[in-house]
Amino acid sequence: MAIREILTVADHAAILKQVSEPVARVDDDLRALMDDMLETMYDAPGIGLAAIQVGVAKRVIVMDLAREGEDKQPRYFVNPEILWRSEDTLPYEEGCLSIPEIYDEVDRPARVRVRYLNYQGEQVEEEAEGLFAVCIQHEMDHLEGVLFIDYLSRLKRDRAVQKVKKLVRSAA
Ligand code: ZN
Repeated sequence: MAIREILTVADHAAILKQVSEPVARVDDDLRALMDDMLETMYDAPGIGLAAIQVGVAKRVIVMDLAREGEDKQPRYFVNPEILWRSEDTLPYEEGCLSIPEIYDEVDRPARVRVRYLNYQGEQVEEEAEGLFAVCIQHEMDHLEGVLFIDYLSRLKRDRAVQKVKKLVRSAA
C-alpha cells in the first residue's frame, strides 16, 4: 500500500472536472488501487475519497464512516449507481479533501438507494441515509467531475478556490 498525492482545485481543477470511466472488472490491480486510496484517505484524514482525487479517472470510491474510537469500517464502491432518491432533503455542511479547509452547506436527497460492486466484485444494493447518504452522493459527484462548491454561488465558489490556492502556496 502507498499514500498517493491528493489533487486539489488549486492546481488540478481540470483533472477533477473529468468524468470517470466505468471499471471493466474488479481484479487485484483494482484492489491495489482501492488499498492505496483507503490508506491515502486515512492519512489525510477524511471519510471518503474518489479515484479521480488521486488522478485516476475510474469509477471507484472508498469510504469509512466509523466514529472516533470505533473499529475501522472500510467500504468500497465500484461503478456505483443511484437507483432512487428520496424527495426529502438533508442539509449538511460538507468538506472535501480536494478543497481543504472549506466547508459549506449543501442540500441533497436525504436517502438514496445505491447499487455497486464491492471489494470482492460482488453486486450490492442498499439504502443510504444520514451521513452515508451525504457521503456517497458527494463522492459519486466526483465521478461526474462535480465538486460540492459547484452547488454554491459563483462568488462563494471563486472565493473558496482562491483560499485553497493561497493555502497550497503557503504549504509549498
Ligand atoms: Zn470530495
